[in-house]
Amino acid sequence: MDKIDFEKYAESIPKPEIRTDTQPQQDIEVDDVWKIVTENLRMVLDRVEYDSWFAGTHLERVQNGVATLSCSNDFKRETILKDYNKFLQSCLTKATGQNLQIEIVVKQQEQSSPKERYRYATKTGNPIIDLFTKMEGDKRRYEEAVKNARLNPRYTFKSFIVGSNNRLAEAVAQSVVTDMENEGLSKSYNPVFYYGSTGVGKTHLMQAIGNEVLRVNPDRKVSYISIEQFLNEMIEAIRTKKNEDFRTKYREVDLLIIDDIQFVEAYPKTQEELFHTFNTLYQANKQIILASDRPPREIKNITDRLRTRFEGGMVCDIQPPEYETRLAILKQILAEKKVSVPDAFLDLIAKNIETSVRELEGSLNKVITLTKLGEVPSYEEVARILQFDIESKRKRVTPERVIEVVANEFGISTRFLKSSRKTNGIATARQIVMYILRTELELSLKSIAKTVGRKDHTTVLHACEMVPKKLKNSNDLAQKYEKCKGELFY
Ligand code: ADP
Ligand code: MG
Repeated sequence: MDKIDFEKYAESIPKPEIRTDTQPQQDIEVDDVWKIVTENLRMVLDRVEYDSWFAGTHLERVQNGVATLSCSNDFKRETILKDYNKFLQSCLTKATGQNLQIEIVVKQQEQSSPKERYRYATKTGNPIIDLFTKMEGDKRRYEEAVKNARLNPRYTFKSFIVGSNNRLAEAVAQSVVTDMENEGLSKSYNPVFYYGSTGVGKTHLMQAIGNEVLRVNPDRKVSYISIEQFLNEMIEAIRTKKNEDFRTKYREVDLLIIDDIQFVEAYPKTQEELFHTFNTLYQANKQIILASDRPPREIKNITDRLRTRFEGGMVCDIQPPEYETRLAILKQILAEKKVSVPDAFLDLIAKNIETSVRELEGSLNKVITLTKLGEVPSYEEVARILQFDIESKRKRVTPERVIEVVANEFGISTRFLKSSRKTNGIATARQIVMYILRTELELSLKSIAKTVGRKDHTTVLHACEMVPKKLKNSNDLAQKYEKCKGELFY
């Protein structure tokens, strides 16, 4: 919710007449005052916020310039005093005509209090329970439900980075969640069939749906299972003659998520049961989500009717993420773990791992461990440990590309690097070019001289002597040099 400018809002509350007489204070009808205050609160706060802090809060008395409120616990008391004190004060002033200090006492038994008529009515019409306690209870119920559904609570929408590779898949997932909130509505996509190569986030996204559905309503029956687990349970049920139990278990859920469905290929005899489970759920308007490493038409050994079922809703692919998304994922993991790693290494990983987010994570974890060991490792070291094939990349770098990258980093035109200009900045940049051509591309002195428009190869020798000294003496230069190398080789 946007922050509300309480003070500004308070100005707009209708002002009652300020008492000029000296009425005895007990004449103040606390119920009426509180009614005005709470009505104003409700106009400004959203429902959850109001219920959380003010549903069980009452005005007990107004005496000697002090308004005494009561609430159910210390946490509420602190929050009200910290976040709502000023606003409450102005509401009270306007309702009573007095400038009042606020004092809050904690009272345990607020629910039996008779002063509850100004609360919000709940949707169900049940007696209102203290929302704060309810929130605690909901959290526990949610955690329990997640466990029962076999979901990993870490896989949420919040931790799922959206890029052009998975935008549609994520939108479909969100729409499934919305559909699940309205039980009566028919499902927009049923089943949802996600496919994509390993490590692109299929399991994460499907579990995010399950987690979100349970967060909204922990009473929903959600079941996440891999096809192999499903089939094993089924075989076990047949063996122990508990077919009915098995059937009921999976045919009575609101949301069934089956992972790695491609393995059904290996169990042709079990397809029948799967097909019936599907039909039962589908007909009862229950949601089914599936994931596979390939589209339905490429799954072998399955009956046409099962394939038709797979294809009957939304078939949606998830591609490997592009560079920016890979980088964003790495940063998100670091934020989650509350650790930091130099940007250059993130860039190195994001550039070299292109297909699997799982591998991306694996490499990042190695680098986190490396950087924790003490000294910051060098590019080369990190690349070697991650077994990135820098050599083949190195071979593809041309002298022209080196000139281009250095010119860009030093903010000068490539033309100048090949000219005889001797301005200090240009001369240094040119020396860096020569040094990189010599040490990294291992070109001959003669060809290097030619590349930078020199006749004499002793210029190159001189550059190769000077550059290491200059790098030692100037941090700024060393950074530029490292950046050029990063851009060229990693
Ligand atoms: P798949 O099921 O497609 O093989 P997973 O869902 O298991 O892939 O993803 C592998 C790892 O990468 C998981 O730890 C997951 O959290 C992470 N991951 C994948 N895609 C994303 C994403 N878009 N944002 C954040 N993390 C992701
Ligand atoms: Mg998976």
